[in-house]
Amino acid sequence: MQIQKSFNETSNGEGKLYLVPTPIGNLEDMTFRAISTLKEVDKILAEDTRQSQKLMKYYEIETPMHSFHEFTSVHQVKQWVDYLKSGHSIALISDAGMPLINDPGHPLVQSALESSLSVISLPGANAALTALISSGLPANQFSYYGFFPRSNKDQLEILDQISQRKETAIFYESPYRVHKTISKIREILGDDVLLVIAREISKKFEEYIRGSASELEEYLEKQPLKGECVLLVNGGSEIKQHKRVVDDSLSYKDQVLGLMDEEGLSAKEAIKQIAQYHQVRKQIIYAAFHELDQESK
Ligand code: SAM
Repeated sequence: MQIQKSFNETSNGEGKLYLVPTPIGNLEDMTFRAISTLKEVDKILAEDTRQSQKLMKYYEIETPMHSFHEFTSVHQVKQWVDYLKSGHSIALISDAGMPLINDPGHPLVQSALESSLSVISLPGANAALTALISSGLPANQFSYYGFFPRSNKDQLEILDQISQRKETAIFYESPYRVHKTISKIREILGDDVLLVIAREISKKFEEYIRGSASELEEYLEKQPLKGECVLLVNGGSEIKQHKRVVDDSLSYKDQVLGLMDEEGLSAKEAIKQIAQYHQVRKQIIYAAFHELDQESK
């Protein structure tokens, strides 16, 4: 067990590792604390020092910067941890937003914690959460998946999970792939699933495109997207679709039979979907279906 009191002096005079968010497009989205931390630490580790130069110049931050990216070796990570142990402080930043959120830094955090050093994250800009709260989709329960997977198998697995969870799913996606991704989502989750594209957040051409999968697919056919984007999917879509045909007043068996009849599903698939709809284990529906079946024989 480890207890960190972030604002206390460290017992052996070790330095602290600060994780500092930087703007996701609008340079003004820096907090006062983020700026003063970057000015006060001994070194800044940046994903791309040239990219971060603009920010440093804008805020007149003159702290020495070194690069830290996904290819930084274990040996170098250890050297930075030794640097912290010797009483120096470090701020880690990425090109944009929160470090570690689909950005480098986890090995450094892990290694610093293994050495019982303090790791302090500052609140600030992040594309996923910024998009979520203005998307209009439920924001209290959500899953963040990072970039939409490339392989068909992983895509189907994730979309299946989304269909079963009543929570908003958040993806990062390239503007060149978003159309294809939406076609896939439509194919698996249906025409009506609600989607939101949050594009160029905090920048001049910020745009939110909200609508059903079929509406967005049609729109993107005519209007290819540019810029960075976040894609949000309303979860539990499959469950919602089946609300139309599921009559809660019926027994589980009749609900299963209703789905089989109206949608041509196998008993196995209908049992699975009724279980998802009621958020109960499949075995419960299976048992009810089986027992009633036995009785009727
Ligand atoms: N660490 C970042 C964060 O906290 O959001 C994410 C870094 S990830 C490598 C970059 C992806 O984030 C982009 O491809 C895009 O999907 C999303 N993103 C970053 N800035 C964005 C913005 N201004 N508008 C929309 N999406 C953005």
